Amino acid sequence: MRRLLVAGNWKMNTVRKTAEALASGVASGAKPHLATVDVLVCPPFPYLVPVAAALAGSGVSLGAQNVWHEPKGAFTGETSADMLLDAGCSHVLIGHSERRHVLREPDDLINRKVRAAIGKGLHAVLCVGELPDERSSGRTQAVLDRQMESGLAGVEAGDFGKLTIAYEPVWAIGTGVTATPEQAQQAHDHLRKWVAARYNPEVAKALRILYGGSVTAKDAKNLFEQADVDGGLVGGASLEAEKFVPIIEAAAAVTASGK
Ligand code: PEP
Repeated sequence: MRRLLVAGNWKMNTVRKTAEALASGVASGAKPHLATVDVLVCPPFPYLVPVAAALAGSGVSLGAQNVWHEPKGAFTGETSADMLLDAGCSHVLIGHSERRHVLREPDDLINRKVRAAIGKGLHAVLCVGELPDERSSGRTQAVLDRQMESGLAGVEAGDFGKLTIAYEPVWAIGTGVTATPEQAQQAHDHLRKWVAARYNPEVAKALRILYGGSVTAKDAKNLFEQADVDGGLVGGASLEAEKFVPIIEAAAAVTASGK
């Protein structure tokens, strides 16, 4: 039985005051549902520590949006896994489409980050997903296979307790175009089968696969009801507690309905 996870990626938004207020709003809205649903927020680096304080004792987890794979040293502007743990993070997003496509992070760098994060005890949320033309030309599954193969190189079956996959089709991120529940289910089913074949069926069955891409409270329930959709990675709709908490509520309702 996989618990649903609702994760908020705040990207490069908020200032300290609004980050603290948003964290408090999420914490109080999530409270009645944390017995059945997991909740994670990923603020910008400068606000990890104040958000950790705002979330203290709430049961809402804290994640970073990126990590550097080296433990320390001359890497100007970068942040190590140990620093994230020290700031109160339990999770880190790796390979988000904006880092892959805007900042040109290559597959091998993403893999180093995944291995470094897991090696230090952080929970890695590895984001994968196809570009619009990759979907329209029928290459979605091949792209997902490549991103999984390269992203998880050197990751063992025993590491999967520290891993979540987020399927985020690039054409759906920040566009207002959400994948249909059927499109999401099809991709998630493919990803789970890939893990079953490459690792083993037990690991695949236990792995959480989130859907990300313009999720709102309106479509969350239909997405989360899909057999292989284990929650959501939410960008825009995670920036206001009034929009994010109803997505948590949708996850709780789906869980209560017996999924
Ligand atoms: C994201 O940033 O991971 C994301 C899915 O963004 P949005 O919900 O805004 O599409």
